Amino acid sequence: MILISCKNCKKVYEKESYTPFKCERCNHTVKRRVENSLQISLALVVCAMLLYIPAMLYPMMIVTQFGVNQESTIIEGIISFLEYKSYFVAFIIFIASVAIPIVKLFALFFIFISLKINIKMENKTKVLLYKYIEAIGKWSMIDIYVVALMASIVQLDEIFNIKGGIAATSFALMVIITIFAANRFDTRIIWDENRD
Ligand SMILES: [Zn+2]
Repeated sequence: MILISCKNCKKVYEKESYTPFKCERCNHTVKRRVENSLQISLALVVCAMLLYIPAMLYPMMIVTQFGVNQESTIIEGIISFLEYKSYFVAFIIFIASVAIPIVKLFALFFIFISLKINIKMENKTKVLLYKYIEAIGKWSMIDIYVVALMASIVQLDEIFNIKGGIAATSFALMVIITIFAANRFDTRIIWDENRD
C-alpha cells in the first residue's frame, strides 16, 4: 500500500501502485511525479529572466500627443512619478513591476538550482519560499493593468494616444511564463531523497 497526494488539491489517496489516475475531488491526473518538472520549470525561469531585460530597458508606454511620440521605460515612469511627488504610486509601481518579478524569479531559480546541485538548506524552507512566491505572484501584473486601463481610456481621443511598448509585451510574457514555471513545478520533488 502506498500513499499519493494530488499535486493540485493535495488530497491524499491510498493506492496499490503508482499508476496515474484522476483525482476524484479536482479531476487532476495524479501521477507519482510530474515528468521533467524540474527541467521545464528551470528552462521557463531562465526564459522569464531573459524577458525581464527588455521589460526594463525598452519603453513600457508610448504616449502620442499632438503627433509627438514620447516613450518611457518603467524606471523613467517611476522617476516621473517621484518628480510629481506621487511617492505612493511610484512605490507601488516599483514594488509591482521591478522588485516582485525579480525577487520571484531569483527565488524560483534558487529553489530549482538548489535541487540540481546540493545547496545546504532545509527542505521546509524551500517549500515555504515556494508558497510565498505563489502567493505574491498575483500582484505582479498590476503594471499591465495600468497600461491596459490607461490605453483603453485614452485611445478614444485622437490627439492623445497611449500604447504599450515592447516592454509591456515582454513584461506580460515574463509574468505569464513565471506563472507557468511555478505551476509546472512539482514541489514533491523537494522531498525526494535521490534525484538526478
Ligand atoms: Zn485533486
